[in-house]
Amino acid sequence: MSTPLLDVRDLRVTLQTARGPAQALRGLDFSMQPGETLGLIGESGSGKSLTALALLGLLPASAQVSGSIRLAGQELIGLDEDRLCQLRGDRIAMIFQEPMTALNPLHRIGHQVAEPLRLHRGLGRHAARAEALRLLERVHLSDAARRLDAYPHELSGGQRQRVMIAMALACGPALLIADEPTTALDVRLQRDILALIAEIVAERRMALLLVSHDLGVIAENVERMLVLYGGHIVESGPTEAVFDRLAHPYTRGLFAARPRLGAARGAPLDAIPGRVPELLDLPPGCPFSDRCAFAVEACRAGLPEAFEVGPGHRARCIRLPEGVQR
Ligand code: ADP
Ligand code: MG
Repeated sequence: MSTPLLDVRDLRVTLQTARGPAQALRGLDFSMQPGETLGLIGESGSGKSLTALALLGLLPASAQVSGSIRLAGQELIGLDEDRLCQLRGDRIAMIFQEPMTALNPLHRIGHQVAEPLRLHRGLGRHAARAEALRLLERVHLSDAARRLDAYPHELSGGQRQRVMIAMALACGPALLIADEPTTALDVRLQRDILALIAEIVAERRMALLLVSHDLGVIAENVERMLVLYGGHIVESGPTEAVFDRLAHPYTRGLFAARPRLGAARGAPLDAIPGRVPELLDLPPGCPFSDRCAFAVEACRAGLPEAFEVGPGHRARCIRLPEGVQR
């Protein structure tokens, strides 16, 4: 097999919290091939954003990281900030949930889209501005030529999200990470923006890591998915196979709790009792055992091994072989 674009092995992140050090990511293993689309799903607090930030080397300074993150064979953990800075934007780019976290309110958007082109591609001022315009047109920012000189606050949320996509694309990264890229937008805009991301990813043969708490978004946009809970990957596999089988009780719970049309946004997932525990309060053994209807004493003994459910499809649940959760 060819070298994966991204290869993550035993990734662990420990954070400093008011109550002491807490393990937020507890040994993630996954990889991505060039051009592959992978979804990362889980409730709020499951570790999705920390995973994305770890890949970009953007964790808080107090975080302890161990394991391995290789991008096209190159180890990123322990890489110095200068090298990481070169990679960000150039080889890996990120689209955040809230565009204002990525856009600088003090700079005109043309300047902000042109900046990575000058930095990473060495384009001169005029060439970078022309390319910025081309990118803004590609993301269907209406009236792009005039908007080059606008400030972020002069744009709507959807327009700002388009600008951020243009910035992320500027240098043609091999891996695009999108962390809940449409959560702040209304439903119709969400669809438009996701379709735009999918189109551009396919056209440029980029790999996409799409982070979402929304099963519908994952179902429609990625080939393969990881289900994250309590800093563990509890299920992983081809999207279709995972949805067909819902092997892990947590995945099943997420599916049962998916918002129906008309349900209030942000309503609690009533199909899964309880909520994601604080990191320090996660039970020993299977992280989901406290909320799982199928849990038995043995579930608390240790982290379950990953069982092969089907081709490329694995789930960490000791009750799987018994088929109890069917
Ligand atoms: P998600 O993106 O899946 O909602 P996060 O990756 O943001 O979740 O967070 C995972 C866990 O780590 C949560 O319990 C969150 O409270 C905790 N956490 C995130 N960032 C920090 C931080 N800087 N300091 C302490 N705890 C944090
Ligand atoms: Mg998040």
